[in-house]
Order: sequence, then structure tokens, then C-alpha cells
Amino acid sequence: MEYEGQICRAPMERGAFMLPVSVGCCYNRCKFCTLFKHLSYRILPISQVEAELHRVRDMGGNPKTVFLGDGSAFQLPYDHLVEILTRIRACFPECRRVHMDATVTSIAQKSDAQLKELADLGVKRLYLGVETGLDDVLAFMDKDHNSAEAKAQIARIQAVGIEYAAHIMTGIAGAGRGEENARATAAFLNETKPVSVTNFSLFLHTEAPLYRCVEAGTFRPADEAENLQEARLLTELLEDTVLDSFHDFVLLRIRGSLPKDRQRMLKQFDEAIAKQQGKEPVYSIVCTTCGQAEMRDLVQEGVRS
Ligand code: SF4
Repeated sequence: MEYEGQICRAPMERGAFMLPVSVGCCYNRCKFCTLFKHLSYRILPISQVEAELHRVRDMGGNPKTVFLGDGSAFQLPYDHLVEILTRIRACFPECRRVHMDATVTSIAQKSDAQLKELADLGVKRLYLGVETGLDDVLAFMDKDHNSAEAKAQIARIQAVGIEYAAHIMTGIAGAGRGEENARATAAFLNETKPVSVTNFSLFLHTEAPLYRCVEAGTFRPADEAENLQEARLLTELLEDTVLDSFHDFVLLRIRGSLPKDRQRMLKQFDEAIAKQQGKEPVYSIVCTTCGQAEMRDLVQEGVRS
């Protein structure tokens, strides 16, 4: 099956069978996100999904975990999801876990009985773009939820036995707010207890709506040294989860189970932070054509002093 757009899934889903069930993201409004901006959201017909299941089965595939794509497959209407889950079970009777991305709204749109039925049909984990524990940042970034709404919907899926895994972003609160963001996000995560936390430290993509805010001076980005400090503090504060922290712009990935691996991870952060000291601040800005930092331009434009 030809895949449209960018493959987007959590790193721990690398071994899962990626089954496209829709194209794009039907929300598509988060200011920092460029993943699906060029795609019109549409639900793939069941016949197409079924053909892909048969293709993989006929090649001898026998996945234990299926990941439904694209951005936030849990946005599909309940009946449509039931159809897909039923077909997965018919094709792969040994598959017991179906995972996918979700938004808070996509959970709220389903009743408790529907959530229970989806769990019984194999939905075992939802990845939620929690991003931050700060409500003003969620509102600024045009996320579809605030913290209270997220907590309420997470509790509803956990009550029916569906795990939740969190996606967060260091740097999302902007310059000077790294510590505040780490504390608020850690408090949110320690209360809601995700099975894993993936930190995709903020990238400022020149095509993202957020970059227009950088240009207009309404969002002042943190540099990578502050983002690393934020991630270090988060690592210190998180209680009991698996943390995978990506800082691609400075070629760093630190992961481990907390609290077991805390000291080793903090040491890795300390080493990475030490490397940034005494250097010009680095900003994780990328553009489609160059893929490189544009720090000099930022200085010229007066975005940073
Ligand atoms: S819900 Fe996810 S995929 Fe959709 S716009 Fe927001 S971050 Fe991007």
C-alpha cells in the first residue's frame, strides 16, 4: 500500500504493523505542527484497509501489535473503528494490541460504553499529545484541550483498561519558561501516570504557524541549552515511567526507565549541557529547503538579542 504523507508514530511502535486508516489529521491546527498541513484529511475506505490486511497476511505477516495511522486515528467515528478492529481480529487472531494516536477531543466524543467496547476489541494504548502542563501554553499553541480536560479523558480511558502514553515538548513554553514548564508538565504526568513519555523537543519549522509568531515577536524561542536544562529537570521530577527524550537538533537522545535509570540519564544531560556552555546559543529552527539553523537571521530580525 502506498503511504501518503509522513510516517508518524512513537519510536516504541517501530515493531508494530503500521496500518493506514486515514490520511492527515482532522484537527490540523496545532501551531507548531507541520506534519499534515499539506494534506486534506480523509478517512480511507474499509475496502482499502481490508485489502492491506489481506496483503500482509498473504505475505505471511502475523503482527502482535497493529498501529493505526495517520495523525490521531482515534478521531475516526466509533462504528468505523469497530469495523477496522473486527477485521484486524479476523485477519490476525493472534494480534491482541491495537495502538494509535488520539486527541483529547477524540476520546471525549466516545461514550464510556463505546470506550469499553473498543478496549475489548483490542485497543490497548493511545498516544496523546499532552505537550505541556501549562494551560496558557496549550491555548497559545491552539491545542484542542486544557489540562483539566486532558486529565478527565485520560481517566476515562484508563478506567476501561486502555493505557495512555504521553507526547510532550520541551521548549514549548518559550524562552525563560523552561523550569516552569518542566515543573508543570512533571506534575501533570505524575498525576496521570502514562506508561511512557516521549519528549520531542520543540522544532521551529519555518512553515509552521508558530514561526509566524516568532517573526512577529509574539513567541520568543528558548535556545537548546535551556531546552536541555528543562529536560534534565523533568527527568529529575518524573516518578515512575519510561522517558525517551529527543533533542534532534543537537543530535541527542536520552532514554531510560524512571526511577531506575535516573542518575545515568541526569549524567548524560549534564554532559550535553556542558557541551553547550560558552557557545553561541543554538535554536532548533529548520526550513524545508535548507534544513539548517537560521540563528544569524534571527539575530538580524531582532527575535533574540
Ligand atoms: S493533533 Fe497532532 S497531528 Fe494534528 S495538528 Fe495537532 S500535533 Fe499535528
